[in-house]
Amino acid sequence: MEIFSYMEKYAYEQVVFCHDKTSGLKAIVAIHNTTLGPALGGCRFWTYPNEDAAILDALRLARGMTYKSAAAGLNLGGGKSVIIGNPRTDKSEVLFRAFGRFIESLQGRYITAEDVGTNVADMDTIHQETEFVAGVSSSTHGSSGDPSPATAFGVWRGMKACAREAWGDEDLSGKTVAIQGVGNVGYHLGKHLHDEGAKLIVTDINEQNLERAVKELGAKAVKPEEIFGAKADIFAPCALGAILNAETIPQLKVQIIAGSANNQLKEEKDGDELQRLGIIYAPDYVINAGGVINVADELQGYNRDRAMKRVATVYDNVAKVIKMAKERKIPTYKAADLVAEERINKIGELHKKFIP
Ligand code: NAD
Repeated sequence: MEIFSYMEKYAYEQVVFCHDKTSGLKAIVAIHNTTLGPALGGCRFWTYPNEDAAILDALRLARGMTYKSAAAGLNLGGGKSVIIGNPRTDKSEVLFRAFGRFIESLQGRYITAEDVGTNVADMDTIHQETEFVAGVSSSTHGSSGDPSPATAFGVWRGMKACAREAWGDEDLSGKTVAIQGVGNVGYHLGKHLHDEGAKLIVTDINEQNLERAVKELGAKAVKPEEIFGAKADIFAPCALGAILNAETIPQLKVQIIAGSANNQLKEEKDGDELQRLGIIYAPDYVINAGGVINVADELQGYNRDRAMKRVATVYDNVAKVIKMAKERKIPTYKAADLVAEERINKIGELHKKFIP
């Protein structure tokens, strides 16, 4: 691929190729933008079909982190790393320590964390070589642990911001919420909703997860393909990406879409269609930022209360996006990008001023 053309098109700052012969490490660190602060983003360990696919994944995910952190009000930039390999067979101490040394060499421009294919134990190994790693089991920074409960709490808060917009009241008791995927985030979200008195319709391809939601949350289970047309007030996608598309949108009966899944819109035109239909869509990267807000607190020495207070501001972030979308008569996914870009530009300008 033409890497510099791509970097130029989306204004990437830096791409680092890391190779270590002893361990067999092949990793890519993509740093998209550090205007607001160090680039924080997870490390994905994946068997890519080819090198271009790995580079593109790192680049795409890094840019996504810039927008997510900026819209979340964090003083963090966007970055991401990928290690090319099979997470089942290719992990070793020396490989992660080699990766840790590369991260250390960036002197804090990039901070890594867990992602698909990596876990807390891997972060602990990286931590032996660098402090620029979040999500370790114990450190002088303190540990933020599993991000899913924080993500779910943020989604619940964001859902309330949508409810206030739709019905003038953020109370969700008596409302029906259809949750697609009751795994880590979906289950915790369901718990908040159940405790508040909402009714739940759920689906999952994992029988155990489905049964847990039915038993513990009093949810009604439906088949996976039935969740889109479920008679509910809110749809919470918490399983897969691209589930808002030309096939599923016409089935929806809800007034709000608010869930944790990444990249929910298959195409931008699907976001335009939701606006046309008057369905309030909470943009995925704004409403699912609870996990990154939580882990970012580690950088100050982790404090659970402070972190959760910060996660609660997902409410305000979602409300801000909805307000801008209304004022400018644009879909919410576009407003989310503008909120992020305007913050980066304004703070970037500010940093050029008042230099002592
Ligand atoms: P998870 O794997 O624990 O849960 C996903 C659930 O969805 C599983 O129970 C799975 O069986 C189910 N599922 C998969 N395909 C399905 C289908 N076709 N129909 C119905 N159910 C299906 O993952 P998670 O950590 O709960 O994350 C859920 C989503 O939120 C993912 O898209 C993830 O990228 C996103 N997300 C998660 C976090 C986090 O903190 N965990 C943060 C941001 C975004």
